[in-house]
Amino acid sequence: MALTGLDIFKQLPKTNCKDCGSPTCLAFAMAMANGKASLDMCPHASEAAKEFLGSATAPPVRTVKVGVGEQEIVMGDETVLFRHDKTFYHPTAIAVQISDTLSGAELDAKIAKVNGLVMDRVGQKIAIDLVAVTNCSGNAATFKAAVEAVAAKANFALLLVGDVAALEAAVPAVAAKKPLIHAATAENWEKVVALAKANNCPVVVKGNGLDDTAALVEKVAAQYKELVIDFGNTSQSKTLGEMVNARRLAIKKKFRPFGYPMLACTQATEAREEILEAATYVAKYASIVCLKADEKAQLLPLMAWRMNIYTDPQKPMAVEAKVYEIGDVGPDCPVYVCTNFALTYFAVEGEVVGSKIPGYIVAVDTDGSSVLTAWAAGKFVAEPIAEFVEKTGIMGKVNHKSIVIPGYVAIISGKLKEKSGLDVIVGPQEAAGIPAFAKARYPQLMK
Ligand code: SF4
Repeated sequence: MALTGLDIFKQLPKTNCKDCGSPTCLAFAMAMANGKASLDMCPHASEAAKEFLGSATAPPVRTVKVGVGEQEIVMGDETVLFRHDKTFYHPTAIAVQISDTLSGAELDAKIAKVNGLVMDRVGQKIAIDLVAVTNCSGNAATFKAAVEAVAAKANFALLLVGDVAALEAAVPAVAAKKPLIHAATAENWEKVVALAKANNCPVVVKGNGLDDTAALVEKVAAQYKELVIDFGNTSQSKTLGEMVNARRLAIKKKFRPFGYPMLACTQATEAREEILEAATYVAKYASIVCLKADEKAQLLPLMAWRMNIYTDPQKPMAVEAKVYEIGDVGPDCPVYVCTNFALTYFAVEGEVVGSKIPGYIVAVDTDGSSVLTAWAAGKFVAEPIAEFVEKTGIMGKVNHKSIVIPGYVAIISGKLKEKSGLDVIVGPQEAAGIPAFAKARYPQLMK
């Protein structure tokens, strides 16, 4: 049960010394209850308070890290069941499998293919996160050789899937990369956890359903807490049901055995079915999804889905407010004005590119709101647009005095002309209308 502000207040020194940055101990307690302060900010907390509050106010899902440097992945630290309650913090990591039965040129080609699974969507780089090397050969030396080759050449963190002998051979060789070890089971957990502990690597605890996994996690967590849970199921519905129940218990009841990130492996063999299965796990509540698909066309929808779920609903996606040059621009080129909402900007950019007529896009700072939302909020109206266009100096780069505004805000054209001193051309309502508009208006600029 989550503690209230008053429960926390009772444990504090009640001196109101302000050393924590809050005006009173009660204000600090309320901030702690809301997850906006932590006990280490009060230098006067007693040992008894630390013991009592330390576990009670710890995040319901522990933070676990895999990989190092730029390849590091942070998992867990989630506090809500639904994105709209607050936000989700750490996007599901996507792991693509590589079998250790590949070797030589085949293995190199597979690694190169996996390294290429990096794409761009609405101005953001999206990519897979881990390479899961699996011990399909059943041979420890073969596994070790494949793991070393992948560690040397792959651009992502490592997930090592094998039995005790294979893991004992491979993990020490790549421990500096902090791989995730899969898996400690009821049969082998003492050896695998000892290996993880000795090499300072996180480990997956794989049980068989909720009860069995909870019991195993409790045993392992008494010795080592860098854990990721795998319920070990073989059906999509069971995996989904168990992950939902586990996350509910972790968040609502603070049930500690389920307070760790979760991993799910896809079972589907057909690529589209596998992506749909993975998408289900991304939605609820896997921190890692391990799958076989390795084509960009297969993974892009999954990554776009992940991006949508893990975008903070309280922060609109925005591009930098500035002038963008699209194509080989010159002084005759049109100047389009739009908002800095990422989807608006990239829709306009795509259509300007598609029109084959180079142009400038002035993305006005509307705090990432779309055209009509920004207009209704007074952020995309005559005065701020005129001021921003002038501030950018864009009209000094062209030999005309006109700007094109979205048709949805035609109503501001008169006032904008008055405020800016420019000719205001009302463009199409939708970005899709830009190619036809541009070809009709600037045929001499067609490239
Ligand atoms: Fe109270 Fe501790 Fe903050 Fe001082 S530092 S006001 S004792 S909570």
